[in-house]
Amino acid sequence: METNLSKYLRARRPIIWVHSGDYKEVDTIVTEATKEYKNKAIFEYRAFGAVNFETKVKSDEIVDLYSFFNILFSEGVKTNVFLIIKNAEEEMKDARNIALIKKIAETRYSNSDYNFTVIVVTEIETVPKDLEKFTSILDIPNMTKEEIEKYIWNFAKENKVNVDKKDVGEVAISLKGLTKLEIDHVLNMIIESKNNISISGRDIIIREKGQIIKKSSILEIIDFKEKIEEIGGLEGLKEWLSSKAQVFRRLDEAKKFGVDTPKGVLLVGMPGCGKSLAAKASARLFNVPLLRLDIGRLLGKYVGESEHNMRVALKTAESISPCILWIDEIEKAFAGIDQNGGASDITKRLFGQFLTWLQEKENTVFVVATANDITAFPPEFLRKGRFDEVFFIDFPNEEERERIFEIHLEKRGKMSDDINLKELAEETEGYCGADIEEIVKNAVENKFILETENEEEKKITTNNLLEATKSIDSLSNILSDKIDILKKSYKKFKIKSASQKIKNGKRIAGKPTFKDMVIVNGGKYTPSFFNEEREVYDLEVCKYQTTQDMWMEVMKNNPSGFKGGRRPVENVSWWDTLEFCNKLSEKYGLKPVYDLSQKNKGMLKINQLNGKTEYPGIADFKKTEGFRLPTEVEWEWFARGGEVAMQDGTFNYTHSGSNNITEVAWYSGTSNKCTHDVGTKKQNQLGLYDCCGNVWEWCYDTTNSDYISNKMPYIYDETDNTRRVRGGSWITSQRNYSIFKQSRADALKNYNFYGFRIVRTI
Ligand code: ATP
Repeated sequence: METNLSKYLRARRPIIWVHSGDYKEVDTIVTEATKEYKNKAIFEYRAFGAVNFETKVKSDEIVDLYSFFNILFSEGVKTNVFLIIKNAEEEMKDARNIALIKKIAETRYSNSDYNFTVIVVTEIETVPKDLEKFTSILDIPNMTKEEIEKYIWNFAKENKVNVDKKDVGEVAISLKGLTKLEIDHVLNMIIESKNNISISGRDIIIREKGQIIKKSSILEIIDFKEKIEEIGGLEGLKEWLSSKAQVFRRLDEAKKFGVDTPKGVLLVGMPGCGKSLAAKASARLFNVPLLRLDIGRLLGKYVGESEHNMRVALKTAESISPCILWIDEIEKAFAGIDQNGGASDITKRLFGQFLTWLQEKENTVFVVATANDITAFPPEFLRKGRFDEVFFIDFPNEEERERIFEIHLEKRGKMSDDINLKELAEETEGYCGADIEEIVKNAVENKFILETENEEEKKITTNNLLEATKSIDSLSNILSDKIDILKKSYKKFKIKSASQKIKNGKRIAGKPTFKDMVIVNGGKYTPSFFNEEREVYDLEVCKYQTTQDMWMEVMKNNPSGFKGGRRPVENVSWWDTLEFCNKLSEKYGLKPVYDLSQKNKGMLKINQLNGKTEYPGIADFKKTEGFRLPTEVEWEWFARGGEVAMQDGTFNYTHSGSNNITEVAWYSGTSNKCTHDVGTKKQNQLGLYDCCGNVWEWCYDTTNSDYISNKMPYIYDETDNTRRVRGGSWITSQRNYSIFKQSRADALKNYNFYGFRIVRTI
């Protein structure tokens, strides 16, 4: 295959500058391109010494570049000399060396019998000014997706490992931008930790790509932990991002289906309201690296420097893609361009360059641009087509403030039922998310320094928080003049609010029925008790096992053996839990799921939304509205951390949210022989508590066919009066523990180690 190197050599270019760190690949290209030269000598120099190009054995005599040049200089008249200089950044800064290379180049131009080519291979250095006019830049094209796929198959064959065939396209896309050497390295790491090559190794790829970026100065790789659930409010934006994430996470499949690759989103709005938070959370949601472009660092002192920097930044992002390119405070680069075109030449050119790239880009760099001040933006920048969507982020409304308080209290383990979120939200009109976080931080700190051993006194109360509010002036107060101007400009452009939900017909996610319910995205997986993939639809799942408070409010009695309002209710039979679900549904105006009219005959039917009632075996839970028990397939999905855990690579933890049982479960080793308040052990990846302990959870046995698996001890039938329980309890010993453990119990009986958790179809 002919490379550009062959063309440059034929054109007698004296200096070739190769931007690469993949020396093996460069050697292959050089060998190939010089094949046609019969009379030739290839020399190699690596930092502080000459080496034999073929054998890589170091020469004892030549230890510096300058003397090497001197020795070789006259060789150029006798033969075709190719000198490859690798990893010699220091020496390439030496003026004597530069002068000699220049002399070689000039001699080559002036004397057609002189044939000396210098090939410089470096990852970091740019061409010295004095050599520019003699130099051609050689880019080594990265492998295409198809080439990488082939490479993966070969690699797997050589190393005798398996490749998950259905994932190979996605893995190849994730590996794009890496050199062969880097791909080898990453694949080795994947098989070391996973034993086969599949998409579950994507976190390793992301980490490795981060290392590459660390070497570039304009882009910065951002470590992020933020989850989309940690954003209070902004439901419309969250929903939109989730739908784009579906495409991004399955790019290969989406492309084949004909879906356009998402380009990006512009977030404009008030300071401190979650723009940066959204950028970070989207990287996690998309499961790709997050690169931040610092506009300040982009702007250079010299003519053309800013454009060069922009070009390098965009190219680096492309080579790392799929990724998110976060451009913070984008107005800094483009401010000063007004509708009359009045702007400095630099900003105008930068602006044009960026817009063209954005408009024409076909790559998988998803841009998240954030801006406070859009007064200086030319209108075309905000037009659709450039970005997929533009969102306006306002100060949080009352409901959103409630959620933000709750999120930050929960993050610090300080949320309790005594805290009146509504009152706090009412008292903090005009406060931004960052202000609220500050309030919570201060209140927690004040408690910490309080000198008391009394646990009760150390608890955060509504009053503590209200007190902390007084010492923090809201941002809208501090910046009131500026904010008025900003608000007017947002209005003028009629930008979509990030808080409003967009009904896209597919789902009306967003706010769960009540605050302890968590939205859990559906997905496909192979349950541990089954040998085929099963699909789970989007659900609302209660963070906690049903507490005695919840039970009493609905049922007006408390059967539990270990009393305590925040403890899980137990001593409830499977049939009791169905009754609870129905009554709770009625309370929320939702159609009850269970038809219990023939309960005394042991017969159950399911109320479907189309008005029919069906036998459990053929009922479709997607067509139900009210609260219900999870099916066993659903239970295992959320207990193992669902989609989030799949992305994190933690889906196979032995306990819900951890491999360490003590961290997450009240079991015989930690429980002291009783149940405990819910939510007092670590939550799992979805924010759910106690899925592996406290009390076993009654589940709904799905259909007969689900149980025809050799792993199953039972075949379900109408006469079998037992039902599945999952999780584990305060009495279970570690020997019997794992998230995959199945157990059965008589549906009519109750014990003080059986409870349940409610879910609802969205
Ligand atoms: P700026 O324009 O000043 O950069 P921003 O809009 O990017 O501000 P962030 O940096 O995202 O604001 O917010 C600062 C911090 O405030 C966040 O790290 C987060 O802890 C908190 N915060 C802001 N908004 C929210 C929110 N909607 N939900 C939860 N926390 C929030």
